[in-house]
Amino acid sequence: MRVDFEQKNITILNQTIEPGQSTTVKMNVGRLPSDTPLSINAHVFRSENPGPTILISAGVHGDEINGIEIVRSAVYEGLFSNLKCGSVIAIPLVNVYGFINFSRDVPDGKDVNRSFPGALKGSLAAQVARVLTKHVLPFVDLGIDYHTGGSSLYNHPQLRYSKRTEGVSELAKIFAPPYIIQKPLIAKSLRKVAHDMKIPILVFEAGESLRLDGYAIQMGKNGMLRTLQHFGMIDYASSALHTVTHITKSSWIRAAHSGLFMWTKRSGSYVSKGEPMGFYRDRDGLKQRRVYAKKSGYIIGHNNAPVVNQGDALFHIGFEWEKI
Ligand SMILES: [Zn+2]
Repeated sequence: MRVDFEQKNITILNQTIEPGQSTTVKMNVGRLPSDTPLSINAHVFRSENPGPTILISAGVHGDEINGIEIVRSAVYEGLFSNLKCGSVIAIPLVNVYGFINFSRDVPDGKDVNRSFPGALKGSLAAQVARVLTKHVLPFVDLGIDYHTGGSSLYNHPQLRYSKRTEGVSELAKIFAPPYIIQKPLIAKSLRKVAHDMKIPILVFEAGESLRLDGYAIQMGKNGMLRTLQHFGMIDYASSALHTVTHITKSSWIRAAHSGLFMWTKRSGSYVSKGEPMGFYRDRDGLKQRRVYAKKSGYIIGHNNAPVVNQGDALFHIGFEWEKI
């Protein structure tokens, strides 16, 4: 990770933002079949004093609304308006196509976060990814990228990092979410391409898609403020009141039966081996079977779906950990 943080030029699509200036850059990302133009909007905030440039992005998956709300509300509340040093590039919504379709992906079914670095003449997802790689990442020193779990899959607020990326585990401790989880870099993801450019990216996962969750939003915002405070960019951020648990090994408990499902233990809880965590009922409610914890550990994600099929993921359990 770069540590010099000298004052540099930020020029996004021929628009230069000088130190001390703030503006919104609309980055064209194509047109809908209806000929409606679409843009990714980057809100750029710059202090006159040198410091890091932090990318704060969300909505790479268009249906992951908690992140969009975290970045949107931070901009709306003016949290970056009086930076003491450095710069913030805030992008509340990367995948505009997915957002308008209530979808994680772009209309051709491709995942933007598996399409980096992207290409001008590539798929729609590759075109969206390219805008970030070419026009934004070259100016960035570190980033926070906001995500949620999938449909009905709730993630307890957690940061994912790769131990291959220098400096990122220290940043995760400064952010201080309830859980920090080491996860390998995924090919063609924003995190991997940024890693190749020596830019550490923290991936924050909280809540589930298409659903706002106040706790997830607050945790995501508080961690962002602690990160900005660490670099001297803002004056105050509240310290974490929760314990930070570093999960070193995790696995899923999957549904042994199909039917109606109801959890009795949820994300954020500790369970002991053999403890009941929920139950399945058949469609008439006459047969009931329990789900038990196979190992002791922390629940870092759970399934909110009322109906499950055999084999569906039910609980994500961190079974090896250290307290930070
Ligand atoms: Zn995501």
